[in-house]
Amino acid sequence: MSPADRADNGPIGFSDDPLLLLHYTAFCNASCAHCIVESGPQRKGRMSLDLAGDLIEGAGGVPHLRTVVFSGGESFIYLDDVLQLCAQARAEGLVTRIISNGYWARTPEIAARMLERLGGEAVDQLVISFGEFHRAFIPAERVRNVFLGARQASAAPFVAYSTVIAGVRDDPTIDVGGYAWPTGVLRCLADYGFAAEECVPLAAAVARGATLAPDERTAFKKAMVHERALINYEPLAFGGRASRELRDRQRLRPIEQDAGTPCSVVGRQITAVTSGRLYPCCSVWTNFPNHALGVADSATDMPAMVDDMQMDALVRFIHERGPGPLIAQLRQAGVPLAGEYSDICHMCQTLFEHVSLDDLRQAAALAFNGANRRSPDEGGP
Ligand code: SF4
Ligand code: SF4
Repeated sequence: MSPADRADNGPIGFSDDPLLLLHYTAFCNASCAHCIVESGPQRKGRMSLDLAGDLIEGAGGVPHLRTVVFSGGESFIYLDDVLQLCAQARAEGLVTRIISNGYWARTPEIAARMLERLGGEAVDQLVISFGEFHRAFIPAERVRNVFLGARQASAAPFVAYSTVIAGVRDDPTIDVGGYAWPTGVLRCLADYGFAAEECVPLAAAVARGATLAPDERTAFKKAMVHERALINYEPLAFGGRASRELRDRQRLRPIEQDAGTPCSVVGRQITAVTSGRLYPCCSVWTNFPNHALGVADSATDMPAMVDDMQMDALVRFIHERGPGPLIAQLRQAGVPLAGEYSDICHMCQTLFEHVSLDDLRQAAALAFNGANRRSPDEGGP
């Protein structure tokens, strides 16, 4: 990808194209109750730098894969490694994104200096995660400091803020500045010292950016980073630590209600965890080593690996029709699976807990046939 193409990677720098996600480390200075991947201080260790480098080199050869995301785990704990890998990714023509809880932003000035460092190196996007479940570990003002630092910084990556809100799907909304904000999101923003007027929903900014001409878009991007906080919000998902610590915050619904909900991200978020195991999404799936779809080694052929993953019957079925029909089919066949779920990731967790990868693939192939259609052999996630 040329530098011009890379800069135009989505209207404000967040495209829907497939990603390579690296859990470079699962080590984290927090143990948030909602953490799907169960990161924390006890998860010591990191991916080998060589393996991460090989994966990035391979990602550069995958058509339509334009972004490398450093997730985990708290990537800033190994910032020097991650910045080295970002430089390599940029040289491969890829956009780079780091997700962090913002613990390092002790003052707005420190945050500004860090943003300038990131902007001056090879970091295109920074996503700061925050919210109710972070606050026990990361002081709220650190997140606000990132925002204040971005106003001061002479150079910065595109910064967005991402939170998880329990019950957000059922919240009433309030209009502020032309944006309909769920009340739970407004409460969270207030807890972090953000006025709703200075915030813009990330989805709205992406949509607005898409309507602009390229020269207007550059000014819009700058304004978004220096003057507004771009907010992404998602519902609390069931899985990992949340399935133990936040059980009472989940509203279970009969499977029939979500049975036909497909998963838009599976096969598009190619995820490598620290061991090198490969998964088709960055969520609950990554907690199940026996359900990995491959193991990367130094000779990993990424284009073929991504192709295989996207053509996998199970991945394609979940992408097209969601995990719900598989649960229904297995229940009919007598497999004792629950009948109520909070969301589709919860369904996947249940499937992976009770059914082997081979059996799930077989069930997916059967379900495709059962719908009187052969497993499609073109396209994919
Ligand atoms: S949610 Fe983020 S900050 Fe919290 S434990 Fe998990 S990786 Fe760490
Ligand atoms: S629904 Fe399943 S495949 Fe999709 S993100 Fe959740 S765990 Fe991954």
